Amino acid sequence: MCGIFAYAGRQTDAAGMILDGLRRLEYRGYDSWGVAIRNNGGILTEKQVGKIGSAEVSMPESNAGFGHTRWATHGGVTQCNAHPHLDCTGRLAVIHNGIVENHDELRQEVRNAGHRFHSETDTEVVVHLLEDAVAARNGDPGAVEQATREVFARLDGLNAIMVLDSHSDKLVAVKNGSPLVVGYGDGRNYIASDASALLPHTQRVTFLSDGEMVVISPDGIVARDAATGAQLQPEVLELDWNVEQAELGEHAHYLTKEIHEQPAIVRSIALSQGDTAQKLADMVRDSYGTFFIGCGTAANAALTGQYLFSRIARRHVNFAPGSEFNYLEHFLTPQSLVIALSQSGETIDVIEPLVRGKKEKGIQVAALVNVLGSTLYRLADFALLLGAGPEKCVLATKSYTAKLAVLILTAYALDGRLEEGQQLILQAADMIEEQLSDDNKARIADLTERIYEREDMFLIGRGMSYPSSLEAALKIKEVSYIHAEGFAGGELKHGVIALIEPGTPCIVFAPNDETRGGILSNAQELRARGAYVIGVSPQPSDAFDFHIPVGDAGDAGPIVNSIPAQLLAYNLALKRGTDPDKPRNLAKSVTVK
Ligand code: GLU
Repeated sequence: MCGIFAYAGRQTDAAGMILDGLRRLEYRGYDSWGVAIRNNGGILTEKQVGKIGSAEVSMPESNAGFGHTRWATHGGVTQCNAHPHLDCTGRLAVIHNGIVENHDELRQEVRNAGHRFHSETDTEVVVHLLEDAVAARNGDPGAVEQATREVFARLDGLNAIMVLDSHSDKLVAVKNGSPLVVGYGDGRNYIASDASALLPHTQRVTFLSDGEMVVISPDGIVARDAATGAQLQPEVLELDWNVEQAELGEHAHYLTKEIHEQPAIVRSIALSQGDTAQKLADMVRDSYGTFFIGCGTAANAALTGQYLFSRIARRHVNFAPGSEFNYLEHFLTPQSLVIALSQSGETIDVIEPLVRGKKEKGIQVAALVNVLGSTLYRLADFALLLGAGPEKCVLATKSYTAKLAVLILTAYALDGRLEEGQQLILQAADMIEEQLSDDNKARIADLTERIYEREDMFLIGRGMSYPSSLEAALKIKEVSYIHAEGFAGGELKHGVIALIEPGTPCIVFAPNDETRGGILSNAQELRARGAYVIGVSPQPSDAFDFHIPVGDAGDAGPIVNSIPAQLLAYNLALKRGTDPDKPRNLAKSVTVK
């Protein structure tokens, strides 16, 4: 959600660099964008609705400025509402990620003081408050910095704010809840919403903590505690991602690129994450009550984890979607372990209950997270980095199978059979490769032709294939906009079967496990009502109108079985003319509630 990219340096190509930075953040999801640079003691802005695409900004040379991709929360998607927002004098510009929850009250105050508003956003109150706070410090060289601290302290909600002052080449950033990463270059310094946008410039970064403020200038970076103003020594990390990993290479879209990266990622987890999986398994063993939480695809991985731990390690683990976990806090004690799953490590619906749970109940937190230095990574008592590399498509694919691989390894480790788990994951990696063969891709293309005009689809599975059906439905609906619903196979006849019409495509997960008999009966029930039954299974069956053969990966089945729906989602997007990487209304990292 929302992207911020800021630059202050000796080189004067600010505008182009900022636009390039915003393009690298496009995958986060946005609906409008804008850039502001310092120019001749004033500020120049350019704002537009829609995607950046091949847009250029015709702006003069400048050595400081910032840009923003907006995911509207308050006020429609209009050019006026796009950030940056200027104060009444044109001296200051502000960009913002988050929601100023007390914006109504602040707007009233600012209006009464005579300021005029040009947008409907919650953000604009910030720049007018700053204008007054800076004016009150007439001429003080640290005025903007101090005013930012003062104003930020008045904002309710989870916010990241950046301020550009036309009188100086210093940019101020402060955050509470929304991610910001500082990048260190040589005579060029940066701030971005996530590290992947910094990769072309630097691998040396600092992830800002909540309540921290930084001032970047061509000469360096100064970090302070936003509340006290005390100077801080920021921790500088070296990123282990490189710029090529974050680029398309030979692929037409990130979705297909990331699907194809899965065999290597899953293999590397089998070979390199044994110790970390064992550590996580030990934490589960020592806890008194373990919960998996996650949102969206991570929730589907977490729910699969519940089945995997039961099946492989005979251990009960609870599951809740991140956004529901606050309402289950009654069970939490200092012996509770919460294992949070999040690709970005910034998902607010996961982070918020963890912060509360730690503070109020003293819970232990472990994290399966893909982004080094992210909020979840820093908050967790134990963070396991997935090592899936930058995931830029809004649809989660490789981070999903990476999470499943780690969960399987951990369950095997908990049962004292880590090596067996590693072998199984290696086999699964080979089976993903088979799924990506030309033959299999041609089969999915054929299926796409048969079903792409339908507006409803249903997917069913039992046991650990039940969350597989939820995840497959999510992939399809996110990117093709076909209404796709996943169900537990046994639930079908308790309601959903009423929706089956002649020709309705239904995907049935039928692995060679204890669920096969039951799910094939459900497939027959669907067929009897005219459904077009698509079986994802190692073996054919009379119940299938269309068979997608998959390898029999045993306990690693959910990894291998996820590939056909990923490919189908991609093909459906191409056929229906939707954007495979940036589906409408969605954001990659969901940093607002
Ligand atoms: N709440 C602000 C707005 O609607 C910021 C949204 C964002 O984070 O992009 O403009």
